[in-house]
Amino acid sequence: MMRAGIELGGTKTVVAVADGDGTVAEEIRYSTGTPEETLGRAVEWIRERGAPAAIGIAAFGPVAINRRHVEYGHMLATPKPGWKGADLLGPFATAFPAAAVALDTDVNAAALAEAREGAVTGMDDVAYITIGTGIGAGILAGGRLVHGVLHPEFGHFKPPRAPGDDSFPGVCPFHGDCLEGMASGPAIARRWGRAASELPAEHQAWDFQAWYLAHAVLVLTAVVSPQRVIIGGGVSQAAGLHDKVEAILHQLAAGYFPQIDGAGGYVVPPALGQQAGIRGALLLEADAG
Ligand code: ADP
Ligand code: ZN
Repeated sequence: MMRAGIELGGTKTVVAVADGDGTVAEEIRYSTGTPEETLGRAVEWIRERGAPAAIGIAAFGPVAINRRHVEYGHMLATPKPGWKGADLLGPFATAFPAAAVALDTDVNAAALAEAREGAVTGMDDVAYITIGTGIGAGILAGGRLVHGVLHPEFGHFKPPRAPGDDSFPGVCPFHGDCLEGMASGPAIARRWGRAASELPAEHQAWDFQAWYLAHAVLVLTAVVSPQRVIIGGGVSQAAGLHDKVEAILHQLAAGYFPQIDGAGGYVVPPALGQQAGIRGALLLEADAG
């Protein structure tokens, strides 16, 4: 049985086919262009390799992943030019009518992959926060990926300001100083005048960053009670960041949440790196509902 996975990113797209046991047979990467060329290329590449029984699509958003949404399968109000309203499922349903097609967010797919074969293998209750150009979270709760009406938009809650971080207005065009507005890659670059990747480990930026992420993890812990929280994405590669977040989290949590105080680390880096999205796409299951 052949499976196909598509990781649709804002800048690049990855397409892979795998055997029934999930072993990746082949993979292709290319720049994300218009919906027609990007999805058309994926369809052609898959078709040349056979007829998949299952197809999983892990997409940037906002995207309608809930089957009851009137625009199910379509890209919603994304700022990416040409993609608003794009039908992500149609080209695959037409080309492969026998395939079960599943659609989810890129970060939900990453959470699933890390829970099945990555940093938190075997766990059914985990959250994956990604910090890059934006901030988002994927949530696996009781073994199921959380969708909701749209999907979690975790980057847009408002954390309390870090001590000393009083004047920066934040970069979110909707909310200013929401989590994404204060702690995304572009927020760090705007505040300090340098890319996150250029800031040394001892820079004050990382104390602010750890404060915001500790509050982010605390909120996830209070709401969904995960066994572990993974922090991934480009900015998470900063040296020592996970330990700094965990140290502040311990203070904030004040001994209340048993999993935070358990052995072995609660806030962990991803294990699958750049492969999490495409591995997760291959693991997505089309649900009946
Ligand atoms: P995207 O959301 O576009 O996929 P990424 O997840 O690749 O973005 O994250 C890009 C961000 O990660 C940039 O802000 C960059 O400065 C930052 N970054 C990359 N490497 C590091 C690093 N080693 N330490 C801190 N930040 C980093
Ligand atoms: Zn916002």
